[in-house]
Amino acid sequence: MTLAVIEPATERVMAEVPRAGIEETDAAVAAAKAAFPAWRAVAPGDRSALLRHLAEALEAEAEDLARLEARNAGKPISDARGEIAMVVECFRYYAAAPERLLGQTIPVTGGVDMTFHEPLGVVGLITPWNFPLVIASWKVAPALAAGNTVVLKPAELTPLTSIELERIGLDAGLPEGVLNVVAGPGSVCGKRLVEHPDVAKIAFTGSTEVGRTIAAGAAQTIKRVTLELGGKSANVVFADADLAAAAAPSAVFGNAGQDCCARSRILVERAGMDEFMAEFERQVKSIRVGDPLAEETEMGPLISAAQRTAVASYAPDGAPVAFRGEAPEGPGFWLAPTVLAPVSNSDRAAAEEIFGPIACVIEFEGEEEAARLANDTIYGLSGSIWTRDGAKALRMARAVETGVISINSNSSVRVSTPFGGFKQSGVGRELGPGALEHYTDVKNVYYAT
Ligand code: NAD
Repeated sequence: MTLAVIEPATERVMAEVPRAGIEETDAAVAAAKAAFPAWRAVAPGDRSALLRHLAEALEAEAEDLARLEARNAGKPISDARGEIAMVVECFRYYAAAPERLLGQTIPVTGGVDMTFHEPLGVVGLITPWNFPLVIASWKVAPALAAGNTVVLKPAELTPLTSIELERIGLDAGLPEGVLNVVAGPGSVCGKRLVEHPDVAKIAFTGSTEVGRTIAAGAAQTIKRVTLELGGKSANVVFADADLAAAAAPSAVFGNAGQDCCARSRILVERAGMDEFMAEFERQVKSIRVGDPLAEETEMGPLISAAQRTAVASYAPDGAPVAFRGEAPEGPGFWLAPTVLAPVSNSDRAAAEEIFGPIACVIEFEGEEEAARLANDTIYGLSGSIWTRDGAKALRMARAVETGVISINSNSSVRVSTPFGGFKQSGVGRELGPGALEHYTDVKNVYYAT
């Protein structure tokens, strides 16, 4: 059986890959289990060197990986290059970790007490289709650095760069069985990883709905879980902000809106609304939507026909469409960037994660209402505050219930800083120095002297 991989910009099959099922998943877990004792015993400096080799090998193939990702996920080549650069950076960053996995010595009576961060064993990594290889790297790099072996299950729509990662890893010298990839359906391979008694942890990125299933399934074997789930982040724009910068459309239309950090609820202070909307319209209408491989493209198609239908349902006939950008005609899952205004925070388009190029503009008056609206959601992943008043910016940053927030910026993710959600946007953190804690258990050793 094979998986036909579709190129969203052309709707054509770009590759056929073997479709993994239960048997292949079990074989991958067995291989990872067999490889674990030797991998955890690799001297820290040698494990570092292997991860550095892997980073170099990925860098050597960066342009090919970026083109593959751009075609398979339908994202602009310039974005894909940035993502592959982050993959390389992520492996470099965690290559330093094996020699910095420090425990503590704790003063006690009658002896010496010390702690060790022990690897968990076989870790199951389940990733989505929107940022395929970069999200895989956020998991694979710290998991391997901490001494675990892994089974990575990419999304069935975008398995190609993860399959490449397995090959590049072996070529770079990772021992057989340390990094295994199973490309198959989530309901089969993903579910099996969650249930498998030999898998110690699941690190999952995907929808809140599937995240709930994973948390429930993992409970059966008391697996550790890290969940990076959906979002409905607020872009809070005060009237005193640099409104042209605040209206940057990448905040919500980056990756065609298929971004868990998309600031898809744009809260604008009443006094700045007219100026903001004029600027936003000018910028949205100039977004270049088209062929992901063209250098000038800023937004590609959606990932699939089903995704386009689901997203378009948030702007049906009669919806308050303020303006739209453009999109190509013909083959490809295209959808024009669309701005809905005015919208109430309780409207369906403002309450649910759309995961496509549709933004809602919501009016507010003053800090208190801004914070109340921003927090009136089950999610809490990311967001931005735009103002020239530094104290107000910090008060708002503390008031908004979210794992990541930027002031006068739309960035959410850096390799060296923690990323993850409050509320139903997830559990645990990825990236930054703390990620290793999620791939290790603390062992406390007491030595009577
Ligand atoms: P999804 O939840 O449908 O699938 C994610 C992964 O889970 C895929 O690999 C899928 O095959 C697998 N899966 C599906 N059912 C499963 C099951 N029962 N058991 C185990 N695995 C299963 O999500 P998606 O559509 O691929 O991605 C979009 C979602 O991901 C959005 O909700 C988005 O917000 C979220 N996301 C979150 C982050 C973050 O870091 N917080 C980042 C990117 C995407």
